[in-house]
Amino acid sequence: MELDDINTIAVLGAGNMGHGIAEVVALAGYDVHLRDINEEFVQNGYDQIEWSLGKLAEKEQITDEEADATLERITPLVDLEEAVGSVDVVIEAVPEKMEIKREVYEEIDEYAPEHAIFATNTSSLSITDLSEFTDRRDQFCGMHFFNPPVRMPLVEVIAGDHTAEETLDVIEALAEDVDKSPVRVHRDTPGFIVNRILVPLMNEASWLVSEDESTIAEVDSTTKYGLGQPMGAFELGDQVGNDVSYHVLEYMHEVLGDAYEPAPLLAEKVENEELGKKTGKGFYDYEDGPGAEVPTDQQSDFVKRRLLASMANEVAKLIGNDVAPPESIDEAVMLGGGWPDGPVSVVDEFGLEPLLEELESAHEATGHERYAPADYLAERAEAGGFYDGDEDDGDGVEFETIRVEYPGDMVGHIVIDRPHRMNTISSQLLEELSEAVDLLEDDDGVRAILLTGEGEKAFSAGADVQSMAAGGADPLGAVDLSKQGQDTFGKLEACDMPVVAGIDGYCLGGGMELATCADIRIASERSELGQPELNLGLIPGWGGTQRLSHIVGEGRAKEIILTADRYDAEAMADYGFVNEVVGNDELPEAALEMATKLAGGPPIAQRFTKTAMLAGRDDTDAGLELEAAAFGHLMATDDLMTGITAFMSDDDPEFEGK
Ligand code: NAD
Repeated sequence: MELDDINTIAVLGAGNMGHGIAEVVALAGYDVHLRDINEEFVQNGYDQIEWSLGKLAEKEQITDEEADATLERITPLVDLEEAVGSVDVVIEAVPEKMEIKREVYEEIDEYAPEHAIFATNTSSLSITDLSEFTDRRDQFCGMHFFNPPVRMPLVEVIAGDHTAEETLDVIEALAEDVDKSPVRVHRDTPGFIVNRILVPLMNEASWLVSEDESTIAEVDSTTKYGLGQPMGAFELGDQVGNDVSYHVLEYMHEVLGDAYEPAPLLAEKVENEELGKKTGKGFYDYEDGPGAEVPTDQQSDFVKRRLLASMANEVAKLIGNDVAPPESIDEAVMLGGGWPDGPVSVVDEFGLEPLLEELESAHEATGHERYAPADYLAERAEAGGFYDGDEDDGDGVEFETIRVEYPGDMVGHIVIDRPHRMNTISSQLLEELSEAVDLLEDDDGVRAILLTGEGEKAFSAGADVQSMAAGGADPLGAVDLSKQGQDTFGKLEACDMPVVAGIDGYCLGGGMELATCADIRIASERSELGQPELNLGLIPGWGGTQRLSHIVGEGRAKEIILTADRYDAEAMADYGFVNEVVGNDELPEAALEMATKLAGGPPIAQRFTKTAMLAGRDDTDAGLELEAAAFGHLMATDDLMTGITAFMSDDDPEFEGK
């Protein structure tokens, strides 16, 4: 079966996940049979979908007509035979109980067409075991959505022991087609990728507190502000529910051994029914206390090292056992856990040697299995990291947060490639951007830079606040980050060839400061621009207070920064910030066309134009001086002759840059 053969999908279970999954697939145009065990439950799920579609329409993410058409594609059903009798794929989201799932699979295996694929949304049961309830083990896999499915981009596509490659290909294609980002999990292992990283991390945090080696405040301060995770480990635990984490751990403990023994603190919470937010109390008190208040200033180097060591060990087990390669693990945890950087990059960055030593000494001191280092960790520590340093895309430079492409005709294209985080700018991205500018400047085949953001949502929505939080409330760290941004953007502004920014979607804060450093800005109609920093009690820290006024004048710059308002592309064109506004679909082509046009211009004259204008900003005399010297220099170039000859003969000049 191929993606094109899929028309109708059954979603079994109209609960939390089922109704969301049904909404996602119906939005993408599939007919959906939504099934639950009685009228009330299935209607309840259907009503929630209707409400959610209404919200999407209200926020103008879809039109009212799209909302209506989506709802029309969903048929609520109770009869199981009717629900699966004519479908191409079944996505199962019934309660997480082996017995319930067994009954469901045994029954639907009879009713569903032979070609139909079964995909389970289970979080913790074995895909292999589930597949064995059917006679179509090869047409069976995991399709693990995250909660809430409408908003969460990740889908883990998991192979059971009997799953055919073709089944995985089709379900992966389906996940992409419903606008999700699938990550393939090559082996059926407890927790798959995301929970396998998050849950043991939470467990190690609990062990640290159980053994009086640290406190909840220290652990959360470190994970949230030291490591830049969206929530502290305990804060997240309370959100997920301590019974849920405990249950997953018990399963890991059973299948994978004593390294996953739940920490006493966690067991105690479950015993006392302090399950987290849902019961009003967990690690924090949400009823009688202030809830999760995580201090910014209790970060501990010891906690950081210990948690990273434990994470490095988990990562080693996943990669070493061929569950997934480093890239997939990083992508999955960034998308599924909302981390600014993936766990493999984080431990690689810290250094595997000290983390291995930490594990070894903790193992020696406690004898606990959870600290026993995986063999593969030792192997990679020796090799210098999990990411293979030898993998090269040919030009010797590897980027993670951006891409550098060569769309032809002497244009170097930098794509800000963090669509899952609205292309926000992290410290790593600044570093890579700086390298990319060097790379393109050194490349004789490149005469203009095009800068865009991946996806349709954002050019860049600003600084990655989470990764900034990783620097903590440390004023010196913030000053450094500001300087790093100023320098990087300044390098782009001063780079010796024309830079065109193609803006589609949000261009806010740091994103707008970046666009300010381009020479020409082309924006799609739907773009929204602004400097919202003052709303956060901050100021634009990457050159915004200085550079913007050179483009729009001081009066407008003050207005933009002080009001912190958002402006549409047309308004920004009136202010002179945007050079040209084009239709949404035309943006990529229009921006490339402009970059190509500038790439065909005379390189030396372009370079001198930029340098003279930049030098003259604060000192007109210096600028004029430079202009005159440049004028003299240009008289002696071949480009001048080329230009004049072409002008006389009415041809297009082909400048050599000599
Ligand atoms: P839920 O309890 O909210 O929903 C389950 C629904 O299935 C209920 O409406 C129930 O009436 C219905 N049901 C029971 N037996 C059924 C049957 N025979 N046929 C059809 N429907 C039946 O549970 P949930 O949170 O939506 O979880 C469903 C599955 O998704 C579980 O396997 C769970 O592990 C997995 N999952 C949950 C989350 C999460 O965050 N809640 C995230 C990812 C995956």
